[in-house]
Amino acid sequence: MATPTAIYLDYNATAPARPEVIDAVAACLRMGAINPSSVHGPGREARKRVERAREQVAALVGADADQLVFTGSGTEANNMIITGCGRSRVLVSAVEHAAVLRTALTKAVDCDVIPVSHDGVVDLAALEDMLSEDETPTLVSVMAANNETGTLQPITDVVRIAHAHGALVHTDAVQAAGKIEIDFANWDVDFMTLSAHKIGGPQGVGVAICRSRELLRPMVLGGGQEHGLRAGTENVAGIVGFGVAAGLAQAEQAGEATRLAALRDDLESALKAEVPHMKVLSENAPRLPNTSCLTMPGVRNDTQVMAFDLAGIAVSAGSACSAGKVEPSHVTEAMGLGDDEAVTAVRISLGEGSKGTHINTFVKAWLELWNRKGNSRSAA
Ligand code: PLP
Repeated sequence: MATPTAIYLDYNATAPARPEVIDAVAACLRMGAINPSSVHGPGREARKRVERAREQVAALVGADADQLVFTGSGTEANNMIITGCGRSRVLVSAVEHAAVLRTALTKAVDCDVIPVSHDGVVDLAALEDMLSEDETPTLVSVMAANNETGTLQPITDVVRIAHAHGALVHTDAVQAAGKIEIDFANWDVDFMTLSAHKIGGPQGVGVAICRSRELLRPMVLGGGQEHGLRAGTENVAGIVGFGVAAGLAQAEQAGEATRLAALRDDLESALKAEVPHMKVLSENAPRLPNTSCLTMPGVRNDTQVMAFDLAGIAVSAGSACSAGKVEPSHVTEAMGLGDDEAVTAVRISLGEGSKGTHINTFVKAWLELWNRKGNSRSAA
């Protein structure tokens, strides 16, 4: 039997629900999580809770509460914005999450991919050219922060260029929320996506934020919930949990960013001191404070993830693993990393429960594995 995981370094996959969130969700369910569309007293009480949560989530990202449409996930919000923004042409960065990339490639009448630099930063000159050469009404979708490497994108530059060409702009801020400061109004984006479980809220709740509700058409049809933009009885307990998580994230963001960046820097410098040719992906780009995508030369990431798991440490492969075959991810591919190197990348993502002792244990386990597998292979 595997050792129970003691050290969780996979916050970008899901940030475990905070105790305050669990309490709020449980309390809401215990009260019956009444339908907030009901006009009786308990229904009105449930509505109040949903609207309070809407204000808390809006406050986290500098949006107005009436700009938020709650959905069943970040994926759904991305789908809704891309398919419901009324633009037939969609330009997406090459490093978007599949919830954006696949949706745009499959559903848009016309979809083009904006290239990124070796550090994973979107090529603004290419974006300008793509918008100049075709005047079709366009949506530009560029994520605020990448889930694998943590690379931050120059969203305000993207907005300036896109708006000059009459394009609308969407940013998937699922990974950025709670980790860096986000200002929906000042960034001047038209649409933004968030997901509760990436900030310590429950899974299965997301939000599509729109500058004006007039810009969006619904994807899920039925009743008139969410101003007719997302039918289906609201997930009251999930939304309440999202609100509590957003409140905590807002209060803690600045302090946590400083604390986690210091832990991440310690981790990276300890490994580089011992194995100078290992790589930190996107090292020279602005990055999220909590994310580190590390190559272990010569050791495949599936081997690493399993070895760390046996040592009680949970991390993720930086590339998608399908049908038992490790393939380089579209992110590392877009950054121009060779396949041999890409399949050695593992993502470490820190969060609320991360401590210096976890970093020390991880570094020790990483170096032991390297000495056992990678070092001997390089010497061979
Ligand atoms: N966008 C990004 C950047 C993500 O990292 C994820 C989840 O990994 C999603 C969207 C999807 O969010 P959800 O899990 O709520 O569907």
